[in-house]
Amino acid sequence: MPAEQRIKIGVLTSGGDAQGMNAAVRAVVRTGISRGCEVYAIYEGYEGMIKGGDLIRLMGWDNVGGILHKGGTVIGTARSAGFRTREGRRRAALNLLAHGIDRLVVIGGDGSLTGADAFRREWPELLRELVEAGEIDGPTAQAHPFLGIVGLVGSIDNDFAGTDMTIGADSALHRITEALDAITSTAASHQRTFVIEVMGRHCGYLALMGAIAGGADWVLIPEHPPEIDDWESAMCEALRAGRESGRRDSLVVVAEGAQDRYGKPISADYIRQILEERLGEDTRVTILGHVQRGGAPSAFDRWMSTLIGHTAVDELIGATPEREPQLIGIRENRITTAPLMQCVAQTHAVAEAISVRNYEQAMALRGSSFGEAFRTLRTLVRSKPPQRGGTVRPLRFAVIHSGGPAPGMNTAARVAVRLFVDQGHQVLGVQGGFQGLIDGNIVEMDWMSVSGWATMGGAELGTNRKIPQGAELYQIARNLERFNINGILMIGGSAGYRACHRLFSERHIFPAFDIPMICLPASINNNLPGSELSIGADTALNSIVEAVDRIKQTAVASRRCFVVEVMGRDCGYLALMGGLATGAERVYLPEEGITLRDLQADLDEMIYWFKRGKRLSLVIRNEKANPIYSTGFMASLFEEEGNQLFEVRQAILGHLQQGGDPSPFDRIQATRLSVKCVEFLIDRAVNGRNEGAFIGYKGGRVQIISLEDMPRMMEPDFARPREQWWMGLRDVAQAMRQPPDELRG
Ligand code: ADP
Repeated sequence: MPAEQRIKIGVLTSGGDAQGMNAAVRAVVRTGISRGCEVYAIYEGYEGMIKGGDLIRLMGWDNVGGILHKGGTVIGTARSAGFRTREGRRRAALNLLAHGIDRLVVIGGDGSLTGADAFRREWPELLRELVEAGEIDGPTAQAHPFLGIVGLVGSIDNDFAGTDMTIGADSALHRITEALDAITSTAASHQRTFVIEVMGRHCGYLALMGAIAGGADWVLIPEHPPEIDDWESAMCEALRAGRESGRRDSLVVVAEGAQDRYGKPISADYIRQILEERLGEDTRVTILGHVQRGGAPSAFDRWMSTLIGHTAVDELIGATPEREPQLIGIRENRITTAPLMQCVAQTHAVAEAISVRNYEQAMALRGSSFGEAFRTLRTLVRSKPPQRGGTVRPLRFAVIHSGGPAPGMNTAARVAVRLFVDQGHQVLGVQGGFQGLIDGNIVEMDWMSVSGWATMGGAELGTNRKIPQGAELYQIARNLERFNINGILMIGGSAGYRACHRLFSERHIFPAFDIPMICLPASINNNLPGSELSIGADTALNSIVEAVDRIKQTAVASRRCFVVEVMGRDCGYLALMGGLATGAERVYLPEEGITLRDLQADLDEMIYWFKRGKRLSLVIRNEKANPIYSTGFMASLFEEEGNQLFEVRQAILGHLQQGGDPSPFDRIQATRLSVKCVEFLIDRAVNGRNEGAFIGYKGGRVQIISLEDMPRMMEPDFARPREQWWMGLRDVAQAMRQPPDELRG
């Protein structure tokens, strides 16, 4: 296509910086090029648009290479007083027209997006003024009758309507969780109390989710101030109860915008004073501040921002003067569009509701999962060790793991044990998976036996892939009776699902199996039915991303190709999402297999680009993508055929993917699902409804499905669900990895 007919897109980052902005910019540039557009980076936000010149630069495919892992924004951001003036916006229009740009991707907060909309509405008038002043000619104005804009929200606060997550919020949560973990260990050593202030002037997202992930004991957020006047006493009482039951550390998390129900700010220092005076505890304050904006983007911020940047370009290409500008976001795991200015208005409505102290409305506007998370945290911090002489008939519930270790298993087990105990029931921990149930390796658990588990990787109860059969089922039945077990919570992977399904289908032979049981998806492979995400997969993805970042850094001297093997068994989730998050050129999935023809084509491609100066190539292969064409084989093949053009190194990431402390997301999901499982088991056991089920998230909502339905939801010969939502993202991965053919010239 001749250059003058191409659509010309400008991309800018504006307002506060956020980790993941680079991934979005990269995706906009590469998708734009793939679609035959010209993409210009506008440096330093709106300031760059007003100044023009060298601050507006045409981007090539390689200009956005090697930025995915960087925090902040490489094209710079700024606040611009000039853009708030009409004259500033007139200059901005002139500078855009100098390059023929009439489409913009604006990545920023509500201020930046509001500014973009004002600019769009004024565009025809601004152009008329420019013509009248003789700064542009009539045909130029006619060629650009309207300005198309799309908005992507870059904000660590996660304070925006129209998207479940904003760019940077997950990374900020990583920084907060790392800080809370570090503080917990020092607090526990000295039996100290810490008050930690996190960012969020109008939004308690970071405080609330940070508190859940960090296992904090109290939280204060702007949208939901304490309901009672003497909230200080309630807080002190909760912390005292925790201490009395043996806890060595106390953590209070407070959002910077926290206030009481009369709108009076609650500062971290005020809380410290209260705790020191009333509890006589040595209390320290830590204000996390800009640490939360820093550091490398998390895996989620890399893949999510890639997807929304990609979608933004397609939205812009289809822009018309009639179509309202859109905000691209993510809802319930899917990339979505929503009218930009409605989202801005709703975002303002939350701040407005808080300022007039209409907290009910503020919470309602935040959406249902925010409210649910708040209730979950409240249940957790309020739950206490058992009081003697309770009124409920105590039931006995077993907690068991099965399958490979998945970070977050301990988090889920801790929540379950504490909630069962809180409600007057007893909990039995089965050690070493289903083998433990066969051998009667079962211990009583109490409130304190799960102390510190919220943040720990691994599986303290032990786990393995044992699936009971034959005579072992008799032994299990005997132990269920001997220990008088009224319900089972299995937190684990596909082996656990199959084991539970087996017990469930043998009920007609073993009456002891006729008790409620539920499976909670915990597997790094993300290969379980009924849940779009399983606990552990996000942590594993972050481990892969960190490892690949390091591996890539070793390729400084020579031309190199890395073949990285990731786990996942029969499921390509880690390989594909790992590929999206690290910028791999090629991913090999077990769903697609590998053929000799594929390898030949990929090799030709690689040779072609290395000959033209490429320095680094990264391919990611799932461990079971093909039994014959192993990682070693592929590395040898590429090395041999690469013919000294490049070196090949293989890296089999192995078990580091199953280790590590769970990511914030995995801790939060583990907590939410575990709360639901406990509710389910108690309800079914009390009412004598002996259902067998598995729980999961679909479209952001919790669903519970009967074990009966499990076989039809699985691929017959493979340990993976028939439906895998993420397979639809392969096109984006494809669009990011190779320049279009015309760039081959
Ligand atoms: P954020 O985008 O993170 O909310 P700001 O509110 O500071 O950050 O906005 C960033 C920039 O966007 C401002 O410095 C200004 O240039 C521009 N901007 C914000 N609001 C408007 C507006 N109402 N009209 C024009 N430009 C605006």
